[in-house]
Amino acid sequence: MTTNPIKTDARHARRHRALPKDARCSCGEADARCLIPTGERVTCYACQSLQAGRSATERHHVAGRHNLDTTVPIPNNEHRILSDRQQDWPRGTFRNPDQSPLLQAAAAIRGWLDILILILERAVGWIPGFLEALDAWLCARIGPEWGHEFRVAHPLQVPPASSGGGR
Ligand SMILES: [Zn+2]
Repeated sequence: MTTNPIKTDARHARRHRALPKDARCSCGEADARCLIPTGERVTCYACQSLQAGRSATERHHVAGRHNLDTTVPIPNNEHRILSDRQQDWPRGTFRNPDQSPLLQAAAAIRGWLDILILILERAVGWIPGFLEALDAWLCARIGPEWGHEFRVAHPLQVPPASSGGGR
């Protein structure tokens, strides 16, 4: 999806340099694309917008304003992320200077994919890390046998363990 990972990495590194380590807004937002350094504290674009009396959503040009006039309401922080992702599209697709219908279609699909990816990241992207942390916590509290005991107690909820094992 990314056409120039070096450019993307440089953009992300620049953003992180402007923020304290482990920066997070009081609302929990931790995505650097959404955070704004404000003196010693950090706030997010959504909280800043609400404090300024602005709407909680913004109109997002799904295919980029050069391709389609179609917009959808997107929460403020997510709009920042989607607009940032559009910077990773091929320049010709994003700008479409000759108004190619093929590039319009490509932009529409790229915009839709970006929204799907964002929904996946925001809705379930946290779950693998949570499960791994919970497993480590249970192993520390109960011992590594907790999984076997759970499997015996709830045989229908857990698939059988792989015969390969990991040890
Ligand atoms: Zn916030």
